Amino acid sequence: MHGGAQLRFDGMPRRLLQAAPSRLVTYLDCPRRYRFSYLDRPAPQKGPPWAHNSFGAAVHTALANWWKLPLQQRTVARAGGLLDDAWLLDGYRDHTQREAARSRARDMVERYVGDLDPTDEPIGVERTVALKTDHAALFGRVDRIDDRGSEGLVIVDYKTGRHVLTVDDARTSLALAVYAAGAERTLRRHCRRVELHHLPTGDVVAWEHTDEGLTRHIGRADSIAAEVAELDERFKAGVDAAEADRMYPPQVSSLCGWCDFNRCCGEGSAVAGPRHPWAGLDEP
Ligand code: SF4
Repeated sequence: MHGGAQLRFDGMPRRLLQAAPSRLVTYLDCPRRYRFSYLDRPAPQKGPPWAHNSFGAAVHTALANWWKLPLQQRTVARAGGLLDDAWLLDGYRDHTQREAARSRARDMVERYVGDLDPTDEPIGVERTVALKTDHAALFGRVDRIDDRGSEGLVIVDYKTGRHVLTVDDARTSLALAVYAAGAERTLRRHCRRVELHHLPTGDVVAWEHTDEGLTRHIGRADSIAAEVAELDERFKAGVDAAEADRMYPPQVSSLCGWCDFNRCCGEGSAVAGPRHPWAGLDEP
């Protein structure tokens, strides 16, 4: 635990919580996991890397790098080569599983790119956007921001997992809402539409936020940030272990088996032990 928090006097402006949406969502999912991830230093030891994260990161890198190529080089074959270049080795059971996954990822990237118009230049690729609320300086890196002319800017988020997406995933996503509001603020263009592009199936699920809906999401992000900032301030001022546990209680659920800190969380591991690092792969 840390000491040395600065005193704050009445009237002194409160420091904004610097947060990507993932920080706020981690807190909502499990306050203890939030504490392990963002506050405890040294951080508790994480479990081994996940194969599905390696898989997803390689696909994201390949797609980002494809858009960075000169126009005439944006071909399907080049996309497959970029996937090979970006391939990450961590988390797989063995060479056979890793190579089968690489082949699926290459097919996935090539199929996706085959349906793109390479001249349809995005306005942003892995672009950082940001906005401030009363209690937070929110930021995020967006996979892709499209310029759809009179429709405005569109947030595109790539998904590579096996979870079948629904419109509700796009509608309720705090991250996508923050990206939309952040893109509008950063790029000074209207942005209400958010899209999840599910690469394994080619499905696109989209949601068009209303002004009110987007305002609600940002208000929610702000109130979570306010709660987190207050807790973090107390934590950094110094609390004992029992108090820290009360402030950031474990939120036990079936997700505990996927938690990086499962091995150092008695409550979580009692409910769902750690899974194999390759358990999240979408294998045929
Ligand atoms: S194992 Fe479960 S309860 Fe423990 S930190 Fe992780 S998500 Fe929270």
